[in-house]
Order: sequence, then C-alpha cells, then structure tokens
Amino acid sequence: MYHEWPRSSTFWLFLFAIDLDLARVSKDKACPCGGRLHCANYPRKPRGVSDTEAGNALRYRFSFCCACEGCRKRVTPPSVRFLGRRVYLGAVVVLVSAMRHGPSPRRVRELSELFGADRRTIERWQVFWREHFPQTPFWKAARGLLPLTDAAKPLPGVLLEVFLRGDDLQREWGLLLRFLSPITTTGRLANEIS
Ligand SMILES: [Zn+2]
Repeated sequence: MYHEWPRSSTFWLFLFAIDLDLARVSKDKACPCGGRLHCANYPRKPRGVSDTEAGNALRYRFSFCCACEGCRKRVTPPSVRFLGRRVYLGAVVVLVSAMRHGPSPRRVRELSELFGADRRTIERWQVFWREHFPQTPFWKAARGLLPLTDAAKPLPGVLLEVFLRGDDLQREWGLLLRFLSPITTTGRLANEIS
C-alpha cells in the first residue's frame, strides 16, 4: 500500500489545476435561475500541509454566487483539494484514516504529529468512513464501478489499494480525489467530515 502522496508543491498545483477545471464547468452551467455566476471564493488555510509545501495552491476553495438580484444562490463546485467545509484537505482525511486502519495501524499520536489533527478529529473521520460514507447514494452507486477484490476491507484503505499503484502517485491521487469529489458538494456530508 502506498500510504503517501508526492511530497512536493507540484502535487498541490496539479490538484489546483483539476479544481480549476471543475470550477469552469460549474461556471459555464450558470445558475439554475439563469443568472450569471460571479466569483465568490472561500479563503482557506488548511491544516496538514505546510505553507512552504503548498504555496498558493490551497488558499481558496472555488465558489460562485449568482449575480441575479433576489437569487444570489451559492454554487460551490466539487473539489479534489477540499473535502469538507473547514480546515482539512481531502487527501489528509483519506490518508490519515487509511493509515489508522491499515494492516499495520499507525498510532493516533504519530498521525497527530504528522498532520496536526487531534484524536477527536481522527475518530470523527473514522466514524465517517465506517458508518456514514458506506450509506451514501454516491458510494452505493460508485462502488460497482471499482474493481474491489475484497468488499469487506475497511474504507478508505480499500480505495487507496484500487487507485494507488505507485506508477505515478500524483496522477493516481488525482484520480482518487476526482472519484470522491461528488461528495464534496453535498452539504450535510461535507459538514460531517470537516
Ligand atoms: Zn440565480
């Protein structure tokens, strides 16, 4: 198992570029009311990755607001960088949860030191993967598309096994996070993991 991501700013820039594409698709669709969408990004200061590593690639989550007076609906596109609404990156939530639950579980204290997430946060992520995520319409529909050899293996480790082959970690992490990106826009779910 490749419990790691490429430790370089290139990786975060690569994810940034994917998010930019996803944002363009949302913007082109316009608001359901027909109004044009204006940029209304959310500033972010995510934990788990240092500023030197991330550069400017993680400062904003793309979001739009309808320009129509009286509508002003918010449209936030799916993201491969931000899973929830708050401070942790999608890749951190996936990686830490998988490391905690893998064949040789890493201790909570060690993970806290590595990624700056406290015990309660890590436990909340595990509850999310164990209890909430498997019940989502997204997973019920998407699991059939994956070549899962052992469906009983815990999430999200089983996803790392499917996606991360180690040939090109950057690309493979991109595919994994792109796969999960539909759940980053569903309000309740996104709140649970933040
Ligand atoms: Zn509108």
